[in-house]
Amino acid sequence: MTHDLAGIAGLEARLAKDLSLLEMPSKSWVPARTKDGQRVRDVIFVGAGMCGLTAAARLMLSGVDNIVLYDAAPEGFEGPWETFARMNTLRSPKTLAGPALGLPALTFRAWFEAQWGEKEFDALGKIPKGMWMDYLRWYRSALKLPVINETRVTGVLDAGDDLIAVSLLDAEGPRTEYCRHLVLATGRSGLGGGAVPGFLEKVDRRFWAHSADEINFGSLQGKRVAVIGAGASAMDNAATALEAGAASVDMLIRRKDLPRVNKMTGISSQGVVHGMRHLPDAWKYRFNDYVNDQQVPPPHTSTLRVTKHANARTFLGCPVEDVIEAGDHVIVKTPHADFEMDFVIAATGFRNDFTGRPEFASFSGQIKTWKDGVYEPSMGSAKPFMVDAPYLGDAYEFLEKDPGSCPMLARIHCFNDAAMLSHGKLSGDIPAISAGADRLMRGIVSEVFAADVEIHFAGLQAYDVPELQGDEWVDSTPSLMEAVK
Ligand SMILES: Cc1cc2nc3c(=O)[nH]c(=O)nc-3n(C[C@H](O)[C@H](O)[C@H](O)COP(=O)(O)OP(=O)(O)OC[C@H]3O[C@@H](n4cnc5c(N)ncnc54)[C@H](O)[C@@H]3O)c2cc1C
Repeated sequence: MTHDLAGIAGLEARLAKDLSLLEMPSKSWVPARTKDGQRVRDVIFVGAGMCGLTAAARLMLSGVDNIVLYDAAPEGFEGPWETFARMNTLRSPKTLAGPALGLPALTFRAWFEAQWGEKEFDALGKIPKGMWMDYLRWYRSALKLPVINETRVTGVLDAGDDLIAVSLLDAEGPRTEYCRHLVLATGRSGLGGGAVPGFLEKVDRRFWAHSADEINFGSLQGKRVAVIGAGASAMDNAATALEAGAASVDMLIRRKDLPRVNKMTGISSQGVVHGMRHLPDAWKYRFNDYVNDQQVPPPHTSTLRVTKHANARTFLGCPVEDVIEAGDHVIVKTPHADFEMDFVIAATGFRNDFTGRPEFASFSGQIKTWKDGVYEPSMGSAKPFMVDAPYLGDAYEFLEKDPGSCPMLARIHCFNDAAMLSHGKLSGDIPAISAGADRLMRGIVSEVFAADVEIHFAGLQAYDVPELQGDEWVDSTPSLMEAVK
């Protein structure tokens, strides 16, 4: 495929025109504030992956432009796409509007067609993951989003005056910035990290990794590898190990059968996108509980990418009960057999354990979760990652477990996967990310406006630019009075 950069220039001109037709970005309207001589940011984002970029774009288009996104990753390597995503292509269809915020020129399709044309788009199967990352890189640059890379958020404290102090660490060392609102766009690991089965925690790290860890697959050449799990990541990690020359890869799967139907995708609609938030809690829980019981099948292509190898085996109904070190290898114990393995990959998903994130330790204990007076057994089974999920307000903001104990939570927004139970899938996957960004923007805009209501009222009173000069009419009352005398 030839790369037409002129096409990208044309697309950017079209985007600029569309934005101007819509009078976007709106004028900047949030009053400036300072703290310790520093300009306070209206919003700081922790994370500049797809969710951070989309939400930041939505805020900037709405005139909330004193914002910044910090990301620990190097520029262009945010999120999983060029790191631990080990699939060849996205699962999502290529036509999804995703982060486009209602602007056709911002879609993946427009970006692709601008460079390679409509025919090539028709011929494209699924989106290669590196190409999706390239699109996100373009999105960021086309909208001039203020991302600062290689900067880690290391701590968050209440700074008084309704401000939040954010500790940052970059190559120059530590520093602090202040903001009014903080958005945690921290990705799939949300507020925790990889969910690692207890039996692995005692085992030396040279024998195992979580599927989201950096894994040196080259070192698995000629090795016996076990993969625990049956989701997309399990298949993608198994396939990568096989392609790297592993001697064998055994998939150890607790379920007696692989899930075959992607239930939530099946009922996707604007009703689900906009309506789930407004259902009673019991219904929200019930939908999620059912989907988690049914589970999402691994993609067809990822599964074939594994099973086409003669040295790949799939063991169903084979839960791992323990992993024991045995010199230069491990014994993986299951009810059916003990497996000798050189390396184990736990494709066991993520958890909502806030203690997994030291940067959020100052407030994590105060966050209200579903188990704090919301969940009842009648809603469904008490799955740890569901009952431990934060119970969020309308703008994705955290609520306090004990009212009054941590007021800054009202200005910290959980815009990541951990929000799913409270809001539906609007802050993680591609399909509804623009709707999620819009909901977050509306919440922050309303709160920032209300917090400054006196300033806005004073502005209203002080505004004195006349539309009429006073010479556009003549008052006939005096002559009328004269006539009736
Ligand atoms: C392997 C994989 C495949 C997926 N495939 C699909 C798919 O096909 N279709 C789909 O719809 N969805 C898919 N998803 C789900 C979703 O689209 C992605 O997870 C997406 O990356 C979510 O974007 P995000 O911005 O929430 O998180 P991320 O892209 O993960 O970005 C989070 C960012 O936060 C930064 N960060 C975290 N903590 C800090 C800190 N303290 N300081 C500074 N920076 C920090 C990280 O460096 C990271 O760059 C996939 C997810 C994974 C993991």
